[in-house]
This record gives sequence, C-alpha cells and structure tokens, in this order.
Amino acid sequence: MAVASPYPLIDIPEVDTWTFLFESKRDFADDKVIFLDPTTFRQYTYHELKQTAIAFGHALRSQWNWKKDDCIGFYSPNCVDTPALTLGAFWAGAVVSPANPAYTAAELAFQLKDSGAKALITQAPCLKVASEAAKIAKIPQNRILLIGDERSSQVQHFSQFISSAKNSPLSKRVPCKPSEMCFLVYSSGTTGLPKGVMLTHRNTIVNLLQTDSVQTDLTHDGGVDGKGDTVIAVLPFYHVYGLQYEILYMVHLGLKVVILSAFTPDAFCQAVQDHKVTFGYLVPPIILFLAKSPLVDKYSLRSLTSGMSAAAPLATDLVEGVYNRLGLRVKQAYGLSECAPAITTMEINDWRTKIGSVGKVLPNQIVKIMSEDERLLSTGSDGEIWVQGPNVFPGYLNNPTATANCMTPDGFFKTGDIGHFDKDGYLYITDRKKELIKYKGFQVAPAELEGLLIGHPKIGDACVLGVYEESQATELPKAFLVKSEAAKDHDDLVLAKEMHEWISRQVAHHKRLRGGICFVEAIPKSAAGKILRRVLRDQIKITEGKN
Ligand code: AMP
Repeated sequence: MAVASPYPLIDIPEVDTWTFLFESKRDFADDKVIFLDPTTFRQYTYHELKQTAIAFGHALRSQWNWKKDDCIGFYSPNCVDTPALTLGAFWAGAVVSPANPAYTAAELAFQLKDSGAKALITQAPCLKVASEAAKIAKIPQNRILLIGDERSSQVQHFSQFISSAKNSPLSKRVPCKPSEMCFLVYSSGTTGLPKGVMLTHRNTIVNLLQTDSVQTDLTHDGGVDGKGDTVIAVLPFYHVYGLQYEILYMVHLGLKVVILSAFTPDAFCQAVQDHKVTFGYLVPPIILFLAKSPLVDKYSLRSLTSGMSAAAPLATDLVEGVYNRLGLRVKQAYGLSECAPAITTMEINDWRTKIGSVGKVLPNQIVKIMSEDERLLSTGSDGEIWVQGPNVFPGYLNNPTATANCMTPDGFFKTGDIGHFDKDGYLYITDRKKELIKYKGFQVAPAELEGLLIGHPKIGDACVLGVYEESQATELPKAFLVKSEAAKDHDDLVLAKEMHEWISRQVAHHKRLRGGICFVEAIPKSAAGKILRRVLRDQIKITEGKN
C-alpha cells in the first residue's frame, strides 16, 4: 500500500539553513540560552551563537580563503562549541562532515579523504588521532582547530583563530541554494562500506518543519518554570539524529539544551536533576537504564516527562517500564541518515495507545510497503519501506552506483527496513532487510568488519551478523569465521580470543565483536559469491534449537 502523510502539506521556504535559523521571524528573545555545558557552565545564548558563528565564518573566509562547498570535518565528543562552529561553517557556505570521536586514525582518515575535508575541528584529548588522520588525508597541521576548554601548544584554539581575523575587512556571508549540500554524514546504507550521505539545506530545513507538525510536547513557554522546555543532548552530534534535533531543531525552537559529552549514568541523572530537564532525545539502551537501573533511584528525575526514542528497535515493555517508574512518556520516531532523518514520528498523545509503532508519516511524504518482487503490499503486510519526499537525500557522494541501487526512477528511496502499516496509518518496524547492524544506535557495517577479518592470515572467510541482546536492549555484532588452511588445527577458544583482541585494535569500540565469535565450516554464498545472511541466520536458529 502507498500511504501519503495524513498531516497538512507544509510550505517549504526557498532559503538556506542560515537564513532559516537566523534571518526568519522568531518568537523567543535573543538572550535565550540555547546551549549549556553543565560541567563548566559555559553557555551560548541565541545572540552569542549567531555572533560566534559569524566570527568563525568570517575567519574561515578571511584567514583560509574558504570557498563555497569546501568541506570541514568535525572529530569531537559533544561540545558546547560545536553548534556555533557548525553554523559558522554554514555562514561561510561550507559543508560539514562530522565523524565519530571513537574512530581510529585509519577510520577518520578514510572519512576525511572521502569527503575532501580541508580543515578539521577537534578537542585536545582527540588531537593525537586527529593529527595522525589529518596527515594521511593531507590536511596541514595548521588547519586543525581545537574547541572545548583544553588548549594545546601544537594547534590553535578556535577563539585564537577568530581573534586573528578581527582586523581583516569583514567578509560577506556566502548564501547557498536550497539544493546545495550542507551536511555530509556517513552511513553504510543498505550494503557495503560507509558512504557520504549528501544532505542539502532543503533536506534539513524540511525535516525540522515536518517535525514541527507533531512535536507539540516541546514549547518555549512550557517546562518546569514556564520559560520553555529543557532538553538533554546525550546523543552524538556527529550522527544525523543529534545534528538535526539536538542542534538545529533547538535553535529553531529556541530551547535550552544541556550538553553531555557522552552518556554516563551518573552525569545523565545529575544533569536531568540539576537542570530540571523535561525532554530527552534517547535511544533504547538509555531507556533500559532509566527503566531498570537501581542508580536512577538516587536522583529526582520527575521533571523528565517526555522523550523520543529512535535509531534502533525499542521493546514495548521498556516503554511501560519507564512510564511506571518515572512518569516518562516515550514516543518513537523512525528514520535514516538518508532522510535527514525522520520519516515518521509519534505524537505524544499516542505514546500508549499505539505502543510499538513509530507513528504516522510526516508531511509531504509518501511511504510504500513493497514485496520482494516489488509489488505494493496491503495494510498489515510486512514489506520493505520505500519513501518519497523533500527530506530524501539526493545521493551518496561520488557513488552513483550505490545511489542508483537505492533509488527508483520515480524518486522512492528503498530504506532496506521491513515494516507494515495498521489500519489507522501507524507504521511498525519489524525487521531489517539490509546488512546494517546497530549497536546502541551506532552503525556497524558488516562489510567493513568482514573485510578486515578476511585480511587476517588465520581467517579463510567471514560473515558478521547482528544478534539481539535483550539485557542490553541492543544488537551485538557477532562473527562467523572459517579458519584458513594455515589455522585449521588451531583451538577454537584460543583463536577466538586472539581474533577478538586483534579486531578490537583495528576499529572504534562500538564495532567490537561483542556478540562473540563462532567458527563454522563454510559461509553460505550465492552462485555470484554474495553472502546469504538469511540462510546463515536460519542455520544458527536451527543449531540453537537443537541445543
Ligand atoms: P542511521 O542512518 O544511522 O540513522 O540508521 C538508520 C537505521 O536505523 C534505519 O534504517 C533502521 O534500520 C534503524 N532505525 C531507526 N529508527 C528506528 C526505530 N524507531 N526502530 C527500529 N529501527 C530503527
């Protein structure tokens, strides 16, 4: 079936992201605090954000002769300075490509080279890896800037960079067309290695406006003091979910965001309690923690009355559990990097009546549920989710083949996710057709791990699958390995330990083989040599059933 959004069509302004956020009418004051670091109490009001962004954009133009579409990389845990520099880059017409701060130098270098980044923003604790990667990607050391509170003698802090441009004649802002790219985020899509997902100014603005249609539980006259909701930003700013909702959407709404550099249980609870946080963008493992951890009882988290969960499947008993314990109503959203990101979002009033669903289709989109042989399926039937709308990306950077493989000629994007609609138009995600594994909301591309494993002399063949671990509310990457001829007599346990340690040294920590390693005789493959993941999955189920 094809489901058009039940919400009224929205008008899409023909402007770039800067104009949308800083030159359109706002109904909150300039001195509204938007971003706050709860540890150092450093903060940015809307006005300071804009001024810092302009100063940074000006420095890019005057000091580095920044050109429109030049890409700037970010490699940093969440930091109170990130929004200002991201927006400053937009002021200068730049494309922003954020990377996971847990990446190894090789992983970061891949993204820097692929994106063609001309400069890199990082923090002092990440500088060693950032410098190593920048060297490989031929970004000079003087094009690395620090954000955050620590300084280094090796590279400039962005505040020095801004100061050094103070006396240069003021440069002009670089306006962009709505169809031009503003973010380049990395995703493995439905198959293969991470690819640059090009998101345009229109994609990002549209998704903010689409979200407006359903996000009634976030207001600037709500919150515990009537001065607006307070939101906790714990999801990474390098992921589209964090970029769009925790940065751009908060500037759009004029809400206070309490920024955590990463999720740690005590820091999260402390920040919610101290700042009377009312709303959180969350992922299932955090909801599991809030529903079950004894530590939660040490804090008063009653201000946290609503939250959104996305990025990975959420078990319905957790939704009930967290409500019964804290009065926190969790609604689900569903989307992908390629859709900037949201396709559907639940309205807060539906959180219990439509538990398990990810909501209705957001405005200006059409979603189809398709069979394997590309026939439209009817209500209640599971099939692949295809989507068409102005938030759908134009393609993968320099990769027309991958783009063509996921787009139909009439502009539907094939998500690789499986789901169905109920009779009221609510979508339910039930499975994933594509290879992707999600560990706590972080992407793990099986092809990347398989490529590394097969390169090891003791491994003849490899397949990596996601196995769901209920006690952690997440999938875990698990490797099925065939020993090479040279290693055929090695003990399974000893070799598994060796491989586990070896892979852990090669990749960011979220990609580690936490689901374990299992040795098999052969990896099932099609005649064309493609791994038959479903067949392997079924074989495992049969074996598990026998035990
Ligand atoms: P990313 O591009 O990293 O945002 O990953 C997108 C993928 O995350 C989707 O294709 C889904 O497989 C998964 N995903 C996102 N939201 C949900 C959700 N609410 N429930 C289940 N899976 C989800």
